[in-house]
Amino acid sequence: MKILEDRILKDGVVKAGNVLKVDSFLNHQMDIELFNEMGKEWKRLFAGENITKILTIEASGIGIAVIAAQYFNVPVVFAKKSQSLNLDGDLYTSKVESFTHGRVYDVVVSKKFLHEDDNVLIIDDFLANGNALVGLIDIAGQAGAKVAGIGIAVEKLFQGGGDMLRAKGYHIESLAMVESMSEDGLTFGKR
Ligand code: 5GP
Repeated sequence: MKILEDRILKDGVVKAGNVLKVDSFLNHQMDIELFNEMGKEWKRLFAGENITKILTIEASGIGIAVIAAQYFNVPVVFAKKSQSLNLDGDLYTSKVESFTHGRVYDVVVSKKFLHEDDNVLIIDDFLANGNALVGLIDIAGQAGAKVAGIGIAVEKLFQGGGDMLRAKGYHIESLAMVESMSEDGLTFGKR
């Protein structure tokens, strides 16, 4: 998606440890006009799917998921991160290793909000190694729900998570795909 790629080139900052900082428009300050275009694009790309729910993970997935949901007319459920878990049986849980914080979180979703008749679109801001998505897919699986698609704002192709999940058959639509990045610049690729 050209407007997202152009915005990354203009305002994205490459940090140490393969981190792309996009906090001026995507995950701290949020450009809602851009989010609207992203939501419309995911609606176009997943037009054939009868999505019943959008699933994301706190915190930075929530903004884009909420705007996208207005084009799908479905609720958004976000998985909560928790470091100490009181398992009370009413929760689906999975473990996720955080890319940006290097810690393992339990992520939880109430059983009330995800069911076996759900056709889920997972949305997140970044796809790197794929750990966050594997956790969300696990949770959808525990509910017996179908993962109809995965919408990502920025995929870093060189970290391999997207290709690992494509090989398992998931339909992933990443709106910007970073092929390489360094302090000297950034290139985009395709899949
Ligand atoms: P993964 O689990 O695929 O390795 O990483 C995805 C998660 O880590 C996303 O939910 C996102 O919040 C965070 N993340 C991964 N790479 C980056 C990055 O380059 N920049 C930022 N801001 N977040 C990232």
